[in-house]
Amino acid sequence: MTDIIQVLPDHVANQIAAGEVVQRPASVVKELIENAVDAGGTRIDLLIKDAGKTLIQVSDNGKGMSETDARLSFERHATSKIKMAEDLFDLKTKGFRGEALASIAAIAHVELKTKQTDSEIGTQIKIQGSKVASQEPCVTSNGTVVSVKNLFYNIPARRNFLKSNSVETRHIIDEFQRVALAHPQISFSLHHNGNELFQLPETNHRQRIVNIFGAKTNEKLVPVEEETDLVKITGFVGKPEFSKRTRGEQFFFVNNRYIKSPYLNHAVNAAFEGLLKDKKNPAYFLYLSVDPKSIDINIHPTKTEIKFDDEHALYAILRSSIKHSLGQFNVAPVLDFERDSNLDTPYDYKKKPISNPTIEVDRDFNPFESSNFSEKSTQPVKRNSGNFQKRSSSESWETLYNGLQQENADNNFTNIEFESEEVSGHLFEEEKQETQTGTFQLQKKYIISSLKNGMIVIDQHRAHSRILYEELLKNITVKAAVSQQLLFPLHLQFNAHETAMLEELKPSLEQTGFVFSKLKADDVEITGIPNLIAESEVSILLEQLLSDFEHEVPDSGFLQTDLLAKSLAKSMAIKAGTLLNMEEQLAIVNGLFACKEANLTPYNKKIFIRLTAEDLEKKFI
Ligand code: ADP
Ligand code: MG
Repeated sequence: MTDIIQVLPDHVANQIAAGEVVQRPASVVKELIENAVDAGGTRIDLLIKDAGKTLIQVSDNGKGMSETDARLSFERHATSKIKMAEDLFDLKTKGFRGEALASIAAIAHVELKTKQTDSEIGTQIKIQGSKVASQEPCVTSNGTVVSVKNLFYNIPARRNFLKSNSVETRHIIDEFQRVALAHPQISFSLHHNGNELFQLPETNHRQRIVNIFGAKTNEKLVPVEEETDLVKITGFVGKPEFSKRTRGEQFFFVNNRYIKSPYLNHAVNAAFEGLLKDKKNPAYFLYLSVDPKSIDINIHPTKTEIKFDDEHALYAILRSSIKHSLGQFNVAPVLDFERDSNLDTPYDYKKKPISNPTIEVDRDFNPFESSNFSEKSTQPVKRNSGNFQKRSSSESWETLYNGLQQENADNNFTNIEFESEEVSGHLFEEEKQETQTGTFQLQKKYIISSLKNGMIVIDQHRAHSRILYEELLKNITVKAAVSQQLLFPLHLQFNAHETAMLEELKPSLEQTGFVFSKLKADDVEITGIPNLIAESEVSILLEQLLSDFEHEVPDSGFLQTDLLAKSLAKSMAIKAGTLLNMEEQLAIVNGLFACKEANLTPYNKKIFIRLTAEDLEKKFI
């Protein structure tokens, strides 16, 4: 029998290894910046073109490489960072696997220029298809410049698999921020297609966070500090009131390496227990220093997951130190028996900045405003018109009802119907006309409408979200919606990552009625909003939208439009618990049955149920 096993040629082995290390342009960015940090640079500049698909260039002023090292650095398992297996348990550098450059060189055109401080002249190497195409002396400054061009040029499948430029740029920004947050003592810059996205001077942790996430971040940060034998924790958590729906600003660093840890994330959430509104995520920037021997970083090729020796203790320490900080900074009730909180309080007050008292004026309030509901027939429900909050003449009547409904909370509809007829019939003559229109609201959640042969129970939130979804979809794809001009532009803050997402969604959002006059990280200025929403809801609505897009990255334009319409419709639709007057109820019923698909919500949930006369009769047997 013939032997069939062969050792794979290097370039094939490298391509396979590259699959693990390099998933997308952002992976290259991560590896190159980490190498620059390991080289001891104090200034690192990143330049990308077309979301890194055409060019990724990282320059540093670190220690550089000799002529031979420059060549060797592209060999697989070639590293200057560890010498023996024991070194794996005492890592002080970001890299150690000696795989990154070899992997990158297997799937892109790479050029490297490098010079050591004590050398007169540098060396330049060009690599194509894992092979050194040329190496020659060159003039260059101290340090290293690595340029990676045409990523995945030889693996078309991988190249096609890449997402849109804005999505890939977002990933790059994420990686860049992670390293920049871990190393505030190094200056960083990021340029994309000639535009400066970040210019971060050398500074401390707090200032670096502020430089990345915007000036207003400063007031949101609560310092966390703790030192035990096991771990030293420094950093910040965001005050609970600034928590967001998106999970954007959550960072753990262990020995200056960004890591992902659902377990430790849980510890932080546990510390915030009771302080966060549902589904909100606290911001955190936490730096843990542990003995390198107590962790294992070598469990994942991209090194973002690590194993701790004593995870449980770490959990407990983290949780209690954050709890303590939140308490100390008057953001959580202090229930700490070991310290005298009376002693802390005056000092905290002293530290508090003096703020001017503020007056809140409801700019929308118009004492002469009358219901304008019927004028807007294409917009079944306009929340900011106040219709839902206004005490309509029918409200007292309906409140009386609600009591009855509560008593019948076991959803015995036949019973309720009977009671309602009696009540309205005797006591409230003037409401007669309304009850005859054939709709009725139950528990501020359902609209009941009579049918020829029975009745139908409609979930008001679901129905409205279907109506809005179809309308939004039409606006985005066919005819742009009219927008309401804001008297004073609205200024919102989003981080660079979120702003990149908004940039991507901008054309569609504008079709729905949004007008963005400025779209910069830290300052998003909005001068127009869709007719259907209130100014006060814009921020929460956009946050929800970004959070939805973060969890589900749509591949095609159609899916993106669909997700946008779904997400906005969900946020804009009236909620359960909103009292609807008769006109509003009718608008929902009519709007729903004018929809292309009246049965299901955009998220495929049932919108209504039907009860036929027969069903009812059966119940009376
Ligand atoms: P690792 O970082 O795991 O050692 P890499 O493939 O990323 O593996 O790099 C291989 C080697 O090349 C490094 O160990 C280092 O000696 C050298 N090197 C890479 N990038 C730089 C740089 N920017 N400056 C100096 N040396 C570098
Ligand atoms: Mg490396």
